[in-house]
Order: sequence, then structure tokens, then C-alpha cells
Amino acid sequence: MRKKLLKLYDRLYAEYGPQNWWPAETPFEVVVGAILVQSTAWANVVKAIDNLKAADLLTPDRLAGVSPDELETLIRPSGYYRAKAKKVQAFLSHLRERHRNRLDSLFATDLQALREELLSIYGVGEETADSILLYAAEKPIFVVDAYTDRLFRRLGWISGKYHYSSLQEVFMDSLPHDLQLFNEYHALIVRHGAATCRKIPRCGACVLLHQCPTGNQ
Ligand code: SF4
Repeated sequence: MRKKLLKLYDRLYAEYGPQNWWPAETPFEVVVGAILVQSTAWANVVKAIDNLKAADLLTPDRLAGVSPDELETLIRPSGYYRAKAKKVQAFLSHLRERHRNRLDSLFATDLQALREELLSIYGVGEETADSILLYAAEKPIFVVDAYTDRLFRRLGWISGKYHYSSLQEVFMDSLPHDLQLFNEYHALIVRHGAATCRKIPRCGACVLLHQCPTGNQ
């Protein structure tokens, strides 16, 4: 599997180049983006993040001072804005109560303990926790998502029901735990899933066509 995974990485990297993820200026922006991107396209998140930036609210201190109504209005473009406002506020409460509003204090914990802590916060599931771990806390954990599942299924590498942790294990058990590799690999899969291996795939333009049973059907 290691060989297959590294080969796939090389193909995607050769096709798309470095993705420079996560597209954020600060770790806190990554955290907020990781919550807002749940069940929506990234383009919608960008609009919400732009609203928060325009209001100069993208720090834990400033965002904590915003009323629930105002927060909902600002993040409305990201969809499910009421639920997401509650999730952002739950994260902010946790940060204030446990870490004096300091992300560096939260991120000082080792990977597994930090993952458990993040998962204990309302609204933080595995994909969100791992995105925060990888892209904000810079801990080497692989983030998988619906794009990864779809690609691997179409390549014939997995079957059956989608389980986040089983798919994650494919990467964690086979690849060196290298922060840069994990960062770039996930971003490349997302790029491929958004650009080519879409819901209706563009197999004719796909760099993986020669090895893909779905594309060759
Ligand atoms: S050939 Fe088609 S189905 Fe296979 S990976 Fe490429 S776009 Fe996806």
C-alpha cells in the first residue's frame, strides 16, 4: 500500500503542484475555517471568513465578544449558520475556560491528547479535529474526507461503508508521519476531487485514468 500511496501522491503532485494549504493567515483562522467548512463548499467559507476579516474579528478575544446574532449574520454565507455559530462559540468557550484564550496553550499538548480534547468540544468531529491538528497545530495526522473516500472507491482500493478512522488508518499505517507530506497529500486529493474526480467525473482529463477501473468502464 505504501508504494501505491506514494505513487498516487507523485502523480497528483506532478499534475497540480503544491497547494499551499490551509489557505489561512493564522492558526485561529484555520480553526474557524475548519468548523465553517462542515457540509459546505470552500467557496462559501471564504465569504464568511472575509466577513469576519472585514469586521476585524479573527482573534479568539475579539470573536468571543460578538453576540450570537451578529456571529450568525457574519458567517451566514457558510450555510447552517445557526448551528455553526454555536460550534464556533463552543470552541471559544473551551479555549477561554481551559487555555486563557491561547491557542499555543491548547496546541502544546501531544497529538493524541489534543485530538481527544478537540473531539470533546461540541461540534468538533473527526475531520474537523484532524484539520485543526494538521493545519493549525502542525501535528502529523492524515485528514480524510468525502473526496478521499470517493477517489479510493473509484480506484478500487476500498469498498463497503465509509468509516473515517478505517480510511485514515490506510494512510497512517502506510506512510511516514511527515507533516509536509500529510499536509500536501490531503490538499491534493481535495484539489483532484474538486477539479477532476467530481461527482460526475471528468475521466477523459484525468491523470489517473490508466490505473482507474471506474474511468475505464
Ligand atoms: S479516471 Fe475518473 S473516476 Fe478515476 S480517478 Fe480519474 S476522474 Fe476519478
